[in-house]
Amino acid sequence: MDFQPDAGLDAFRAEVRAFLRDNLPRELAGKPVGSVRSMRPDLMRWQQILHRQGWGAPYWAKKDGGTGWSVLQRLVFDEECVAAGAPTQDGFAHKLLGPVLNAFASEEQKAAHVPHILSGERLWCQGFSEPGSGSDLASLRTRAEREGDFYVVNGQKIWTSYAHESDWIFLLVRTDAEVKKQAGISFLLVDMKTPGITVRPIRSIDDCHHLNETFFDNVRVPVANRIGAEGDGWTITKFLLNNEHASAAELPLLRRYLMQLRQLAAIQRVGREPLIARPEFALRLARMEAEVSAIAMMVKRVAALEQDHSPAAHALGSMLKVRGTELQQRISSLMVEALGDYGAVAYPEPHHACEGEPMPFQETGRGIANEMFFRRASTIYGGTSEVQRGIIAKMLFQL
Ligand SMILES: Cc1cc2nc3c(=O)[nH]c(=O)nc-3n(C[C@H](O)[C@H](O)[C@H](O)COP(=O)(O)OP(=O)(O)OC[C@H]3O[C@@H](n4cnc5c(N)ncnc54)[C@H](O)[C@@H]3O)c2cc1C
Repeated sequence: MDFQPDAGLDAFRAEVRAFLRDNLPRELAGKPVGSVRSMRPDLMRWQQILHRQGWGAPYWAKKDGGTGWSVLQRLVFDEECVAAGAPTQDGFAHKLLGPVLNAFASEEQKAAHVPHILSGERLWCQGFSEPGSGSDLASLRTRAEREGDFYVVNGQKIWTSYAHESDWIFLLVRTDAEVKKQAGISFLLVDMKTPGITVRPIRSIDDCHHLNETFFDNVRVPVANRIGAEGDGWTITKFLLNNEHASAAELPLLRRYLMQLRQLAAIQRVGREPLIARPEFALRLARMEAEVSAIAMMVKRVAALEQDHSPAAHALGSMLKVRGTELQQRISSLMVEALGDYGAVAYPEPHHACEGEPMPFQETGRGIANEMFFRRASTIYGGTSEVQRGIIAKMLFQL
C-alpha cells in the first residue's frame, strides 16, 4: 500500500472542489445532514445537478451508468461533498440497491429503475428488519405467496428508514417456509403506492422522524419485480451487505465533526479563555484527531484491499465500522460537552427551526444535540458492534 501523496488524486480533489463551488446552490449547502438522508426536495434537486454533470452514480462502474471512479476517488468525492455541506444522495438506491440491480437484475428491470435512480426522481428504502429479525435476518417471517403472476405479501417490517418519503422499497420476503431458512427468501421491488402498505412513524431519541414501521396487508407485487430466482434472496442480501467497506467508518463525517468541534472550542469561553486554550480539552481533542487520522489510514488500506477483491476487506471493513461509529459517538458527545450549558438545548434542525431571537451558537451549535442523540444508533444500524466483532473473529480465524 502506498501512502505517498497522489498527484492524480489531488487534481481530482481540485476538480470536485471547483464543481461544488460553482454548482452547489447556496440554499442547499450547510444543512446538518451527516450520513442521515437529506430532506426529499433537497436530495432530489442535488441529484439532478450531479446527474447533469455525469456524476449521478459515483459508486457505480461506467458500463452501468456510473462515473467509474476508484474507491479512493469516491472517498475524496464524499469528503469534499460533506466539507461543502452538500445534500446527501439516496444511499439506499446508490450504495445498496444499485450494485444489486447491476449484478443481478434483468435488462428490463434495469431499464425500469436505473434511469429514475440517476435522475433522482425515485427514492428508495430498505425493508429487511422485522420485529424479532434484525441481527438474525434470515429468520424473517414476512410471507409472499404466489398467485399467478403476482406475489401476495403479508407481514411487518420495522426501522424502515425514510419509508414515509420513499417511492419504492426493496424487500426481503419468505417465499418458502419448508426449506432451510436462508434458502426460502426472495428479493422483491415494491412500489410504495401499492394498496395494502401502511407506514407508521417511529420518533427516535433525536426527536426526528427517520424511522417507521411498515405493514403489508395482502399487497400484490408482480412476479416480474423479483430480482434473481425465487429463493435467491439470501445470496443477493449477502452481496448487498458486503458492499462499500471503505465507507463504513464514515470518515468524511468524522472530519466534519472535528472541524465543528474546533470551531466551537474557539468560540466557547471558560472564564476569559477560549475552551481550546485549556490543556485538558486540547489533549482530548488531539487524541480524537489522532484517532481520526488512524481511521483515515485504515480506510486507505481497506480501499486497496477492496480494489484487489481481497477477502480481508470484509474483516477490516467490520473493524472500521466498529471503530468509526464508536468514535462518532465520542466526538459528538464532546461537542455537546463543549457547548457547556447550551449543550442541554436540543438545537433544532433547520426544518424544525423556530422564529425569534437567535440562540448563542445558533450557527456552529445547530443540530449538534440531535446529532449526538442520533449517533447512539450508529453502533446498531448496518449491523451492531457485537455482530461486527463476531464477523471479525470469524474472518481472522479463516484468513
Ligand atoms: C437508526 C436505525 C436505522 C435503521 N434503518 C433500517 C432500515 O432502513 N431498514 C432495515 O431493514 N433495518 C433498519 N434498521 C434495523 C437494524 O438493521 C437493526 O436494528 C440491527 O440489525 C439490529 O437488529 P435488532 O434491532 O433486531 O437487534 P437484535 O438483533 O435483537 O440485537 C439485540 C442485541 O443483541 C446483540 N446480538 C444479537 N445477535 C448477536 C450475536 N450473534 N452475537 C453477539 N451479540 C448479538 C446485538 O448486538 C444487540 O445488542 C435500522 C436501525 C436503526 C437503529
